[in-house]
Amino acid sequence: MPVISANRLQELYAREERRFSDAHPKSKALAERAAGSLLQGVPMNWMTKWAGPFPIFVDRAEGAHFICVDGHEYVDFCMGDTGAMSGHSPKPTVDAVIAQMQRGITSMLPSEDAVWLGEELQRRFGLKYWQFALTATDANRFSIRVAREVTGRSKILVFNYCYHGSVDESFATLRDGKVAARSGNIGPPVDPSVTTRVVEFNDVAALEAALAHRDVACVLTEPALTNVGIVHPEPGFHAALRDLTRRYDTLLILDETHTICTGPGGYTRAHHLDPDFFTLGKPIGGGIPGAVYGFNESVGDRIVARTQLELCDTGGIGGTLAGNALSLAAMRATLDRVLTVEAYERMIPLAERFTQGVRDALQVRGVPWSIAQLGCRAEYIFSEQPPRNGAEAAAAGNFELDRFMHLYALNRGVLMTPFHNMALVCPRTTEADVDRHTRLFEGALGELATT
Ligand code: PMP
Repeated sequence: MPVISANRLQELYAREERRFSDAHPKSKALAERAAGSLLQGVPMNWMTKWAGPFPIFVDRAEGAHFICVDGHEYVDFCMGDTGAMSGHSPKPTVDAVIAQMQRGITSMLPSEDAVWLGEELQRRFGLKYWQFALTATDANRFSIRVAREVTGRSKILVFNYCYHGSVDESFATLRDGKVAARSGNIGPPVDPSVTTRVVEFNDVAALEAALAHRDVACVLTEPALTNVGIVHPEPGFHAALRDLTRRYDTLLILDETHTICTGPGGYTRAHHLDPDFFTLGKPIGGGIPGAVYGFNESVGDRIVARTQLELCDTGGIGGTLAGNALSLAAMRATLDRVLTVEAYERMIPLAERFTQGVRDALQVRGVPWSIAQLGCRAEYIFSEQPPRNGAEAAAAGNFELDRFMHLYALNRGVLMTPFHNMALVCPRTTEADVDRHTRLFEGALGELATT
């Protein structure tokens, strides 16, 4: 495929913007009205970054589809960036939530669902003790605090281009080999080199050198990176990560908020990993806010030994609504009846079909991009070689091309996960949904290749 010129891409994008604006007069009107009361016309700052001149306003969503206020139906492969991996409004979760709403939403006391969940989480993921939070961000933040407390160490280690929510310590990157703030970081409390060591994913030698300082309380990582494209661990990387963290008395936190796409026990169970902490948010409540973090017995004992009853409510770990009855009911129903073994058995082959469709189209057109799959998640990137680490994945990024691909898909009834090119299959996605993407992807390549 010839390299597409910036001018031609701009022309194509402008054409798609016109088509989008013409098809969405009601979303457009709402966006204009929103500009009067919402900062930059959106409820959350990153919504300004959606491809197109304004975001689509959603009327309703069900299963793998949603309908916008202009009445168009879309196949949703974004699935709320994993928040709706269960499918939109799964019936068992909705039923449980309605029943719980009539029996009290929050009381500051445990309900029986908490015990059911503790036992189920132990069974699924293997860690002994569990606690609840409302977001994956908080589950990570609380795990980091516990790790600092029990190790008496100040720093954490993350891999370059990780994402773990709005966790201050994690907005660090490598610039010329030195730790620096990620671009775009708003009001960092301190220079991140004070709190954080950063190494490239899959770089065992650099990991050892960083841990050898013996000041790292914990490594926080996804078992495979999913927030800068998918970066798989190389063979032996997880074994080395576990060996080294043990050798240097550093705790290991695996954030499975996205990699729960691997299977019902997450990447941890599928690959027999043995982390000290396990965090999971977003999809666990079928879209109702809820998150969990688990840790092994040794961490549990160490934290209890350091906690005083009189002071345990001022420890920097909290959330009045954490563990509320509504979230617990939603998480129980979602784990018990939605994100089941059978659901994954349906979802993963559909993600394979998605991956194969994209791969075939790339081959037919001779386009040097690649696609990676992880369970029910698939993602294509604009480089021929699958990236080995975050820096390589980030280098393959192309903001303009990304926006074109997204808007082209939207205009043909498909929503992809924004800011990269990820597709998530939910239990209600069908082969027809997947094939709809394959066709339009072929069409997009055709437009790009004829320029
Ligand atoms: N962990 C990972 C791996 C994530 O991808 C995200 C969000 N994309 C989070 C944590 C944070 O989730 P939330 O914004 O719901 O707190």
